[in-house]
Amino acid sequence: MRTVPGRTDRVVVVGAGLAGLATALRLRGAGREVTVVERGDGPGGRAGVVTRDGYVLDTGPSVFTAPELVADTLAAVGERLEDRLTLVPLDTTYRAQFADGSHLDVHADVDRFAAEVEALAGPAEAAALRRYLADLAELYRLQLTTFIDRNLDTPLDLLGPELWALARRGGFGRLSSHVARFFDDDRLRRLFSFQALYAGVSPFRAIAAYAVIAQLDIGAGVWHPVGGIGAVPRAMAAAAGDAGVVFRYGATVEQLDVRGGRVTGVCLEGGERLPADAVVVTTDVPEGLVPGFRRRRPTYSPSCVALHLGVRSELPGQAHHTISFGAAWEQVFDELTRTGRPMSDPSLLVSMPSRTDRSLAPDGGQVLSVVAPAPNLDPHSGGNPGIDWDALTPRYREEVLGTLEARGWTGLTDAIEVEHVDTPLTWARQGMAAGTPFALAHTFGQTGPFRTPTLPRRGPENVVLAGSSVQPGVGVPMVVISGRLAAERITGPVR
Ligand SMILES: Cc1cc2nc3c(=O)[nH]c(=O)nc-3n(C[C@H](O)[C@H](O)[C@H](O)COP(=O)(O)OP(=O)(O)OC[C@H]3O[C@@H](n4cnc5c(N)ncnc54)[C@H](O)[C@@H]3O)c2cc1C
Repeated sequence: MRTVPGRTDRVVVVGAGLAGLATALRLRGAGREVTVVERGDGPGGRAGVVTRDGYVLDTGPSVFTAPELVADTLAAVGERLEDRLTLVPLDTTYRAQFADGSHLDVHADVDRFAAEVEALAGPAEAAALRRYLADLAELYRLQLTTFIDRNLDTPLDLLGPELWALARRGGFGRLSSHVARFFDDDRLRRLFSFQALYAGVSPFRAIAAYAVIAQLDIGAGVWHPVGGIGAVPRAMAAAAGDAGVVFRYGATVEQLDVRGGRVTGVCLEGGERLPADAVVVTTDVPEGLVPGFRRRRPTYSPSCVALHLGVRSELPGQAHHTISFGAAWEQVFDELTRTGRPMSDPSLLVSMPSRTDRSLAPDGGQVLSVVAPAPNLDPHSGGNPGIDWDALTPRYREEVLGTLEARGWTGLTDAIEVEHVDTPLTWARQGMAAGTPFALAHTFGQTGPFRTPTLPRRGPENVVLAGSSVQPGVGVPMVVISGRLAAERITGPVR
């Protein structure tokens, strides 16, 4: 593994999102003097929070998986997760709601899950489920050690028995075909392939290796952090602060001060300069800050329209997380990743965390986040720069709410008290490339050793990258891992 040469005592981390926080905790744990510079007024980045009239709306992630990664990160400074966060394992991971009116409750407990599948689709599918979950766990084990949980400098780093084992298990075939080999029931096929969209690709084009994303949620279960997902970055920042990391909120890094091929400091808007022996950049578009760093034209993930609602209604009978599938399927992925149109028959992720955590809404109320995948703004990535989301959003909002009313969230629209809507234009205005918060898609050419490494080959020798646009990838677990990988580029491997 390549590492930053020379002195690395003082490190500046740009960004206090989950990647920046994970990096800072790791570096501080290894004895570095760490300053985190964040342009926002607190930690979290994309894992943001809006609090209004007693409703706490998480505006970023809603599905929190793999808490052991956060625990491991906190342990780097001698902290225990349970002293900083209360996590509630969700009894029902997801409720999958299908267009034919049926539904399936997914449980992390295999026997309960299999019983649900048997009731929905019969004993053969329940037996297939058990085989599939075992296969998924093994695929994940193989991939964690080869692709995900390590710095990769060249494709040759992959060579080894795990790679051959992955190939033998069909990891490089198509995801949709892989899932179809196990399940006959179309509803189960959808349930085990929609996660490809979390990685920014259609299951009809994704390689089967991406099946492992379902190991993180369906296989291993989902947790709710009490106080909302925003409690996770707050806990990480508090632990980092107590360990001696310095936070500079409301401070924007304007440029890196480069002398003789090395960064010697970061320059903040307003003229202040912070000296640094090494810098970790966790922004969405590192190209904007790191002189000399470039990459081939990336392909970006689809974006989303996210509706965050505080409603004065109990909405009885709804689950914490529901995946509400429309009838259309292949066509939806075409719309999102090829033809650049909003979904004509939407599949939606609806989360109602106040079902589990009453601290998030006033008595008699609920908070809901509705994520509707949408094309991004980059035509090269199958997106559409021509959609005027500012003009379209009121109509699109009505459409999404109408869909939810028709699918069982009866009375939702009239009960809305507070509301926050993000569209691809919101993300673009925050400086995210292609108007997507999901960064570079996990196409084959942007995965593993083909994705930008945490220590780029171009640019100053002491600049390291972390976050969703570099290895290993997108989503909370991946960016937390990227924090460790980035820190190890500075400290060398720590186990
Ligand atoms: C609506 C939505 C739903 C999602 N759902 C899920 C989910 O259910 N599960 C899941 O695992 N993931 C989900 N994600 C993805 C997940 O939130 C992200 O992958 C992750 O939070 C990205 O973290 P990061 O640290 O890489 O980036 P960020 O959180 O964007 O952190 C980068 C930080 O850098 C700061 N910054 C940028 N430029 C500068 C500068 N020049 N100077 C100083 N600071 C700067 C930014 O303000 C920001 O705080 C979702 C995201 C969104 C938006």
